Amino acid sequence: MSVKVIIFDFDGTLADTFDAVVRISNRLASEFGYKQAVPDDLAKIRNLGSREIIKQSGISLFKIPFLLKRLKADLHNEILYLNPIFGIEEALAKLNYEGNQLGILTSNSEENVRIFLKKHEMEDLFSFIFSETKLFSKHKVLRKFLQKNHLTPEEVIYVGDETRDIEAAKKINMKAIAVSWGFNSKEALAAQNPEFLIHQPNELIDVIGMLHSAYANDYLGGETALRKADEG
Ligand SMILES: [Mg+2]
Repeated sequence: MSVKVIIFDFDGTLADTFDAVVRISNRLASEFGYKQAVPDDLAKIRNLGSREIIKQSGISLFKIPFLLKRLKADLHNEILYLNPIFGIEEALAKLNYEGNQLGILTSNSEENVRIFLKKHEMEDLFSFIFSETKLFSKHKVLRKFLQKNHLTPEEVIYVGDETRDIEAAKKINMKAIAVSWGFNSKEALAAQNPEFLIHQPNELIDVIGMLHSAYANDYLGGETALRKADEG
């Protein structure tokens, strides 16, 4: 079965929100009882998973849902001024044109995502937006999506910039494309063993094209195509 649906994470994968999220997190630090991140911390943070960041920040676990709510509310005030990742619009337009169904699964609010897509005239590219309020529950939403649409994990691929995105896909045997232009470093992402690790939005076209042709061509098995991506 070939890939039919490509699901994207939003923050860091489609939208360049890293600086805004850091700025807002720092503004909320004293209120929520954790340390502000100084520039030296940021390089380290990119190598950590969300669980490790939460542990090292010293924030109490029960405050996290409230912090996430505030982050999304404050991001709402800035969302109109944030930009898409450079080159992502062209890549998405091409994927869409080639007949791939595109969707979004985010920990951000659906409203923030819709405002952003409308502002950048990208709303027609996506067939659905799912918002998941818990940090580590993306796999549950992905699983529900498969069941509801009678799809197998092989027919869907998840694209994300964080280690928890790759973890979510792996948990339900879905292939993952890790992108190194967002939050986590390429080293941290590689440690999660995603099927693909890419560094430029236009590489999405090659990877998806390769997956399609691997299934279409009897002489080229999926394994061969995946190995080629690793080597390339
Ligand atoms: Mg992200």
